[in-house]
Amino acid sequence: MPLFIYNSLSKKKEEFVPLQGKTVKMYTCGVTVYDRCHIGHGRSLYVFDVVRRYLKCRGYDLQFVRNITDVDDKIIARAQETGRSSKDLSEEQIRLYHEDLKRLDVAPADVEPRATDDIADMVTHIQALIDKGYAYASDADVYFDVRAFKDYGKLSGQGIDQMQEAVRIDKDSRKKDPLDFALWKSSKPGEPTWESPWGGGRPGWHIECSCMSMKHLRTQTLDIHAGGRDLIFPHHENEIAQSEALTGKPFAKYWIHHGLLTINGQKMSKSSGNFITIQQALSKYPADELKMFFLFSHYSSPIDFTEDKILEARKALAKFDVLFYRAAQLLQNKDLEPVQAGFITKYKNEFTAAMDDDFNTPKALAALFSLINDTNLFIDQNTDDSAYLGVIYHAVDVLENLGRNIFGLFLKEKTQELTSELQGLLDRRLAAKQAKDFQLSDKIREELRGKGIAVEDTKSGQTWRWI
Ligand SMILES: [Zn+2]
Repeated sequence: MPLFIYNSLSKKKEEFVPLQGKTVKMYTCGVTVYDRCHIGHGRSLYVFDVVRRYLKCRGYDLQFVRNITDVDDKIIARAQETGRSSKDLSEEQIRLYHEDLKRLDVAPADVEPRATDDIADMVTHIQALIDKGYAYASDADVYFDVRAFKDYGKLSGQGIDQMQEAVRIDKDSRKKDPLDFALWKSSKPGEPTWESPWGGGRPGWHIECSCMSMKHLRTQTLDIHAGGRDLIFPHHENEIAQSEALTGKPFAKYWIHHGLLTINGQKMSKSSGNFITIQQALSKYPADELKMFFLFSHYSSPIDFTEDKILEARKALAKFDVLFYRAAQLLQNKDLEPVQAGFITKYKNEFTAAMDDDFNTPKALAALFSLINDTNLFIDQNTDDSAYLGVIYHAVDVLENLGRNIFGLFLKEKTQELTSELQGLLDRRLAAKQAKDFQLSDKIREELRGKGIAVEDTKSGQTWRWI
């Protein structure tokens, strides 16, 4: 069965056919390291991690590059505000970003280029654009001439004149056209600076991605270029213009964009006090709860972060845990072979069909929940058929593997031993529950949650899991 991907460039769902056999060259715009990453970044990192995992499971040889923008106006401004050097600030933020990735259990990219390591390549690229008549130097800055590139606007689907109405007109007399964008910016005293034929300065943000993607994926046409919807214009439009003007070839075959995240219906911003960093979110919710919340929506849809939805995600995860617990009770210490069953194959196929349809995670999740339900019903039959345990073993194996390998769930180490203190708390909670002292049992449940254990009550008794 073919895989279909919605291509933002053609605005159609298209069959995915990489340029060269099973090799897939994928680039994602990474973070600009001037502040801690927020949960919108968390969604971006995670949804493309799922895409990457799925492509790998489908047998593609994926080469994945996600850059780091470590020179940028925002970094310079933030460093100046806080009296630090840009380098010092970006190094610190890169370290914190790596911590976030690790705690989210999002895999590192195969190559993670930093803009400041590739400036010589950017200078060469800019010079070539000037030589070809697509860019011009104006004082010590260099601009891309958007009117020289006939396809400008093809990704965002707007003509140059429409765009001019949409953007604030920047009356900069150094530009031929207000939409022309900087490829090279001259540096002011005290700003980080690199040598160039146009004097000391730094590259513009857009040219960084064009250079790093083509250089590190060793191609002029990427298979997949991914990023947030907010980057379509001007960032990705400009990446296309700079790259295609240079090479004369399509820059990327498929463009994938994820939808944006709001908090309680509001755009996230520091000034409205609803800015949630990945670190803050992970101090409150385990990574799997955030991931489950992200999976509830298709990657291209907008998503609204609310406490209620996180609680829904918690309940959804508990369905897995309850089944895993039940199965573990039945299967413990038994040497079993998996036994096929029609319902397992059916839901596994539904899962694959959903993922093949533009990575439709809500539908794929629904298939997993149907598998959980039917496995629970199957367990309830409680037959003494010799295949009975083998089917349960197989169903749980499928759920664990799809959850782990495609969705990146259940990755946290869960083999730590229960201390006698934790066992004591679990026993006391159970006793309180049995004595119908719900106030005490709820209090102990919260205490256990604080110590990294989630407790659930099921038909077969109290179950727990590490969170
Ligand atoms: Zn980019």
